[in-house]
Amino acid sequence: FQQEPYVGRFAPTPSGHLHFGSLLAALASYLDARHQRGRWLVRMEDLDTPRNMSGAAEHILQTLEAHGLIRDGDVLVQSQQTERYQQQINSWVGQGLAYYCNCSRADLAVFGGVYPGTCRGRNLPPADDHAVRLRVTNDPIVFTDRLQGRVTQHLESEIGDFVIRRRDGVVAYQLAVVMDDITQGVTHIVRGADLLDSTPRQLWIYQLLQTTAPEYLHIPLLMTRRGHKLSKRLNSAAIEDSQAPASLYSALLALRQQPPAELQNRPVAEVLAWAIEHWQPGQLPAVREIMVQDPQ
Ligand code: GLU
Repeated sequence: FQQEPYVGRFAPTPSGHLHFGSLLAALASYLDARHQRGRWLVRMEDLDTPRNMSGAAEHILQTLEAHGLIRDGDVLVQSQQTERYQQQINSWVGQGLAYYCNCSRADLAVFGGVYPGTCRGRNLPPADDHAVRLRVTNDPIVFTDRLQGRVTQHLESEIGDFVIRRRDGVVAYQLAVVMDDITQGVTHIVRGADLLDSTPRQLWIYQLLQTTAPEYLHIPLLMTRRGHKLSKRLNSAAIEDSQAPASLYSALLALRQQPPAELQNRPVAEVLAWAIEHWQPGQLPAVREIMVQDPQ
C-alpha cells in the first residue's frame, strides 16, 4: 500500500511584505509538508492587480528564503495563468453552470452578503463589465478540518451563487486557488482560519471539476486585543531578514510548538530541523482566533 505523496504549498498575495501573520502560515505549511516528507510549493496569488504592491512578490520570496523556507520547484504566478481560468469560466457559462451578472454592490446591499440569485435566470449575454457567478445548490457541503473539526455550509442559503470573475475582469480567488491547487497536485492545504469560510465554495468547485479535494488544516489567526488581525497591524512592520532566527523562534511559540530555550538564536537551519521533527499541529487550539498582546 503506497501512500499518496504529500504536496503542500504557501500561496501569498503580494499586497505587502511578509509580516508575522503570514510567516506563521508559511511556516506551518512548510513544517507540515517537511514533517511528512512532502514537497512544498510557493504560488504567487497576484490576480487582484489593484491590491498588488510593487516589489512585494520579490520581497516575499526573498524573506521566505532568508527564513530557511526553501521551496520545491518554480513559483507559479497566477497572473500568467489567466487564459486557463477564462477557458474554464467560458465552459461553465456555456453549460449553464455559471452566468453573467450585472448587479451592483448597492443592488445587493440589502441581502446581507447572500446573493439572492437575481441574474440566475436572466441569461445576460457576455459583457466585459459584468461579473460571472457560479451556480450553487443548498446540499450541505461538509468537511473535516484537521484542526477545526467538522464544518458544514449550505452554499445557497449562506453564500448564494458566488463570483468567479469580478466586474473589473479580475478572476476571483475562489476559482484560481482551486484550479492551481489541482494543476500543482496539492494534497494538503495549511493556511489561516480566515479562509475557513471560503473552503466550502472551493469544495464545490472541486466537485464540479470532479477532482478529489485536499486535506485542510486552518490555523488560528493572531488577533490583537483591539480586535484587529495582527497581520493588518504589522503590515508596515515587515519582518527583518537579519532577525530570522528570532522570528522563527517566536513563530514556533505562536504555533504552540514549545521550542526548547536552547534553540533561541540558533541558526535557521537548526531551528527548522528541530521544528520539522517535532511538528505537532494538534497542539494549536482548535479556534479561529487567538488573542495576543498588541506589540505597540
Ligand atoms: N492568497 C491567499 C491569501 O494570501 C491565500 C490563499 C490560500 O492559502 O488558499 O490570503
